[in-house]
Amino acid sequence: MKKTKIVATIGPSSWPIPVLRAMIKNGMNAARVNGAFADTAELKKVAELVRSTSTEVALILDIKGHEVRLNKFEEDIPIKQGEQFIIGSSPEDNVFPITYPELYKDLRIGSILLIDDGEVELVVTKILNEKIYTKVLSGNFVKKGKSINTPGTKLSNPSLTKRDIEQIEFCINDRWDYVSASFIRNIEDVKYVKKYTSKSHMKIIAKIEDGEGVKNFDEILEEVEGVMVARGDLGIEVPYEKLPLIQKEIIMKANAKGKPVITATQMLESMIEKPNPTRAEISDIANAILDGTDAVMLSAETSTGKHPVDTIKVMNKVALETEKFIKPEMIPGKPDAPEITDSLAKAAFQVCSDLDIDSIIVVTRTGRAARLLSRFRIKQPIFAFVSEDYFTRRINLSSGVYCYKLPRKYKDRDHALAGIVEIVIKKGLVKKNNKILVIGNASKALENDTYFPNIFEIVNIADFL
Ligand code: PEP
Repeated sequence: MKKTKIVATIGPSSWPIPVLRAMIKNGMNAARVNGAFADTAELKKVAELVRSTSTEVALILDIKGHEVRLNKFEEDIPIKQGEQFIIGSSPEDNVFPITYPELYKDLRIGSILLIDDGEVELVVTKILNEKIYTKVLSGNFVKKGKSINTPGTKLSNPSLTKRDIEQIEFCINDRWDYVSASFIRNIEDVKYVKKYTSKSHMKIIAKIEDGEGVKNFDEILEEVEGVMVARGDLGIEVPYEKLPLIQKEIIMKANAKGKPVITATQMLESMIEKPNPTRAEISDIANAILDGTDAVMLSAETSTGKHPVDTIKVMNKVALETEKFIKPEMIPGKPDAPEITDSLAKAAFQVCSDLDIDSIIVVTRTGRAARLLSRFRIKQPIFAFVSEDYFTRRINLSSGVYCYKLPRKYKDRDHALAGIVEIVIKKGLVKKNNKILVIGNASKALENDTYFPNIFEIVNIADFL
């Protein structure tokens, strides 16, 4: 069983049901929709498509927040090095930043603008009458609707646009699982998104994609459910040579807190067109897994690319091979959890290291105990039993955890233990000769009143047959 989770961005290439079904069958665990390109009708459609194929796949809405994009002007504009290029501030101008018309207020002479992931580089020479005058440093075309990065410039646009808020509200009502929030720069940005999500089951993944987000990473991590190393923008906003070490640091810190981390962008970029990956891409996926990432992500590869199913197959294969070489490790760090849950996870790690255990069952109301155990990257699969369907999908971003809903109430601890073991036998998750560890700390599920018992028991499956 593959431990690393795969997040796939859904778009025209992955809309056909047979394609989506094949992606899920081959290892896709979460579906992401890029809010920059989708209206609510598309969000609805994707949720229906995914749910008609699997009830286990997590749904992630990616909102754009601070991202600045150009308007969709008529024709792509040819440019030459050294020429002047003017960006306006309203629909009266041919070219203007539609998501943040007041960009000119934050810029200074000498500020750098990178359009289309750095394909075009401009330097500001003058700001006059609410227009940005620039000189072209490099590039051939300014293309409509493309993003603008402003490395080194602190933008003062709000962290959510009207469109973001509408999308979040739609997805809360439609029971989506996560919102991945772009350009989270500090704790205030997180709190602003939380204002809209806090009363729902939807949790926040902070996309770290600029220098500020990196600088304030520790405080951001405290406030969110998970994080994403959003390398597309991050590799433009910070000097690109710093990216590999920033990736490692974000992953290490997220692991220490027991929070899921996604590594994103250009993982199989060449497969947007070609049927096979480059050697560098294979190594990139493997290295992210060795760094400790919980999940790897596909963007255009699965949304508009020519080989959506093959990219999932490649990730699946590389993950399975790489995971053989991951060493279980008791990592330092104080996770955001009650001491008893953390201690239970540490005890389980010890038992799994010392004894010949085949798999672990974690009976956990929300899935947190399973996440804490997952961070030690134990060899054994972790089967988590939780109280609600949405917890099963949410834990789909944590490495090595396979999640199920606890189907019924049990009278007492012994009935619970016997009942859960019966389920894993029936599901074919364990074999006759297996020795498994079952853990759980007492809690009461809020919504269905199921009692979760205290358990720490090594079980021979043969005794239950
Ligand atoms: C990224 O920048 O790497 C990213 C994942 O965000 P987006 O897809 O919005 O560019």
